[in-house]
Amino acid sequence: ELALSIRDLVAGYTPEVDILRGANLQVARGEIVTVLGPNGAGKSTLIKTIAGLVPVRSGEVQLFGHSLVGEAAHRMVGRGLAYVPQTANVFARLTIQDNLELGACARHDRAGIAEDLARMYQLFPRLAERRRQAAGTLSGGERQMVAVARALMARPTMLMLDEPSAGLSPKLVGVVFAKVREVRDLGVTLLIVEQNARAALAISDRGYVLAQGREQVSGAAAELLANPEVGALYLGARRGLT
Ligand code: ADP
Ligand code: MG
Ligand code: MG
Repeated sequence: ELALSIRDLVAGYTPEVDILRGANLQVARGEIVTVLGPNGAGKSTLIKTIAGLVPVRSGEVQLFGHSLVGEAAHRMVGRGLAYVPQTANVFARLTIQDNLELGACARHDRAGIAEDLARMYQLFPRLAERRRQAAGTLSGGERQMVAVARALMARPTMLMLDEPSAGLSPKLVGVVFAKVREVRDLGVTLLIVEQNARAALAISDRGYVLAQGREQVSGAAAELLANPEVGALYLGARRGLT
């Protein structure tokens, strides 16, 4: 079953400039799919377009067979779609727990919130210890965890993460991607945009390389790592994938 289906997607911030130029991408239910690509390829624009934040010129975006084109961004959570932007925004003056409870506000079903909170604290023990602490006192990596946990509190079927490992120490990168696997095990389908190709593909089922607003290469994660074309699509291809 397809969770997300993108066909010939053309989109841009202004009417004059197309950033996505005929992009195609599919994510099956329960998959982890990573989108790679050089800076400026349109990766964040792709995620923002799916999330309803960038106007679609033509093409189709479907979540479980229902079109998201023209849907207002604030209604996406109700459709089962959650999105964590690259710079994780938390409510800095609210406690971690209040941030997570706010995530549950979008739910139709108010039951099971205490259980879901407990599950989040199990998933992110670092947050559990500090649940009464203001989110603004946390490190960048911990804020990212709050943003992901808050998104999950809405019980999305699909979660999109824009560069979840950006700015983290190499040690934390591994931690973040191990968590992504655990999130999938909760039954959430994942679309990830990353610069950190090796670490992201290591936990992904499949990947796409985006350049100039459309997918250039796609395939199983292990195949992409071995594909010289993938390294060549990056600037600094001499070094291969990072
Ligand atoms: P990536 O995430 O792959 O680095 P982006 O999707 O952020 O790439 O950017 C793709 C292109 O879209 C770039 O040329 C960038 O300048 C342009 N762009 C990004 N955000 C905006 C915006 N808010 N308004 C206009 N153009 C934008
Ligand atoms: Mg970028
Ligand atoms: Mg980006």
